Order: sequence, then C-alpha cells, then structure tokens
Amino acid sequence: MTHLTLQAVTKRFNTAYAVDHVDLSVPDGKLVCFLGPSGCGKTTLLRMIAGLETPSSGSVTFAGRDITRLPANRRDFGMVFQSLALFPHMTVAENIAYPLRLRKTDKAAQSRRVTELLELIQLPHMANRPVTQLSGGQRQRVAIARAIASSPKLLLLDEPLSALDAKLRETMQVEIRLLQQRLGITTIMVTHDQREAMTMADEIVVMEKGRIAQVGKPLDIYREPVSEFVADFIGLGNIVPVTYDGQGGVSLPGGQQIIVTQPARVPQSTTDIRLLIRPEDVCVKPASSGAGPNRLSGTITFIRDVGASLEATIDCAGFTLTAATTPRETPGLMLGMPVLAELPPQACKLIAAHAAH
Ligand code: ATP
Repeated sequence: MTHLTLQAVTKRFNTAYAVDHVDLSVPDGKLVCFLGPSGCGKTTLLRMIAGLETPSSGSVTFAGRDITRLPANRRDFGMVFQSLALFPHMTVAENIAYPLRLRKTDKAAQSRRVTELLELIQLPHMANRPVTQLSGGQRQRVAIARAIASSPKLLLLDEPLSALDAKLRETMQVEIRLLQQRLGITTIMVTHDQREAMTMADEIVVMEKGRIAQVGKPLDIYREPVSEFVADFIGLGNIVPVTYDGQGGVSLPGGQQIIVTQPARVPQSTTDIRLLIRPEDVCVKPASSGAGPNRLSGTITFIRDVGASLEATIDCAGFTLTAATTPRETPGLMLGMPVLAELPPQACKLIAAHAAH
C-alpha cells in the first residue's frame, strides 16, 4: 500500500525552482532517503511533506487524503531535525513525554509510554537526567523517542546524524534502521551522505536541481545508474569518456579498445558517452599474465594500503582507473609497476554524459 503520494509537487522561491514537479510514491513501512548535493531541494521537499512549507503547485496525499494545505500540527507526523531541538531545561523523560502532554494523554498512559520508549532506545536508567548531560548519540535517541512518542504514521528525519562524529554516526545509522524496521514506521530521511543512504534506505530518491534524477533500491542505483550525475554521486566510480560503436565495442581515450555486454539501456548518442566501472570490478593482474580481451596495460601511480583494503591508481595512458582490492588478493603491488587492468564486460556500464551546465 502506498501511504504518501506526491504529484507534480513544485516549490518556487521568487523565480527559482527549489523543487520542480516531483512525483513520488512512498510505500508503507519503508525507509526512503532523499539524497543529493547541497541545494538540490531535499529539505524543501521534506518540509512540504511535513506541512512546514506550502507547495507552489502540485499535491501531497497521505493515506488517501489530500493534505497539501493541512497545517503541520494537524498531520500527526514525527519529525527530527539536524538541531534535534530537545528542550534543555527538561529531563529525558519530560522531553519524550512532551508530545503526549500536548495531546493531553492521561498521566498513567504517558508514563507507560515513556517507560516503553526508554526501553526501546536503551536508556531506561536515564529517565531523570537533564538532556544537557547526555552524549550526542544519547540525545539523538531521545529526539527519536520524542518524535515517535505519539505513534505517528510517518517519521521525517532531516540530516539527523550530521552533528555526530563519523564513528557514532555509523552506529546510529544501524540503530535507527533497526528501530525503524522493528516499528515498521514509514520514514523519510534527508541526507547528502550516499553511504548513509546505502546503509539505511529501502529506496533512495536521488535529487538533482529540484528534480528526481533516479529512484530505486540502493544496489540497483549503484549498479545501474541512469546518468553520469547519479553514477558519480552514488559510490566511487571510474567514469571515462568513450566512444561506442553501438554493438558492444568501446574505444577508450588513448586508443585501447574493450568490449562491453550490450547495455539494456543503450545511450542515444554514440559520442557523449561515459564508461562506468566500479573500482571493485577492476581486476589488477601482473603484466606478465599476457594480453587478452578487456585487459588494459597501465602503470601503478598510487597505492593506498590501509590493511583491510587496498586501492591502486593505474595510469592507462590517456585515462586513469582506480582499482579496489585487498593486500591478500593482490600482493606485491608497487609504485611504477606495469600491470594489466582487466575490465569484465558485464561490469562495464555505458551511461549518458552529464549535460553541460
Ligand atoms: P542542503 O543539503 O544544503 O540542506 P537541500 O538539498 O536541502 O540543501 P534546500 O534547502 O531544499 O536544499 O534548498 C533548495 C534551494 O532552494 C536552494 O537553492 C536554496 O537556496 C533555496 N531555498 C530554500 N529555502 C529558501 C527560502 N526560504 N527562500 C529562498 N530560497 C530558498
């Protein structure tokens, strides 16, 4: 069942389009991430769903009801923003109980719900602590508990983890995701961090300049990006300008040739084309292993060996490739070493070049 539907939702600030004709369906119980670079309209879109901003045109429907112009306080959605906005003069329990107090829930029910939520966020012993005495991660959990206290039908999160350090952020990503799955609460989260989106989302909505560039499951978008913009934004990738003969043959800068599996979606033009190959798909082989199809000769110009993984930059005379491997898989790589970079045909994707701006 689709809970939330956006139809041609548009927001103009004066003459500039912050959000431009967005159509989207958010399925029940899923976590959807709005992902994109700064200024692409993620927050404005979320604020229109929240009711904090009114669309210039288009409609927002929730559970079959048009809520486009319904005020935020009548939508019953839970929200967590970057700033968290916990009440500093209140304890943990008082913060969590706040939305229940607003709704005049009776005292005993409030107290039961707060106890339940404290268990859920694993802070049962901190009920009476002022929120000012919590760590960043604990505050984060309290903000989420407060947002879900009145059992909202939709949870909206706007960069809720951006104030946390990298390690805590990764832990919280998993915690929020597990909590969301356990509660089955439909959630929309804004982030500009593709790794965060890949970790947490059932579906990612990639946005570019107020429009949706692609919607899909994280791995589908990673493997089959529809454009250079999406390929570049999601994960690391080697993106090389090429020419395509329309039948699987690709010429690389510098003249080396490879064959690719016929793309399902053949780009319209045969010149404005990029080859995308993810670093983990580039196989590095010793130069002595001999020439063969899709083996490109090159020289190692940089190695980043962090123990668990190894990244090698290979100069292929005309373009460079990054290969991701492990020290165990490819021992003995050295700077200046001639190697062969093998590009498996099925891992090579052809995509349309990013339109010039
Ligand atoms: P970030 O990741 O930096 O928060 P974002 O993708 O969330 O960016 P928005 O905050 O939605 O982007 O902004 C989209 C565009 O709309 C930007 O160009 C921004 O300057 C503009 N914008 C947002 N709010 C307003 C406003 N109240 N008045 C005028 N322009 C605005």
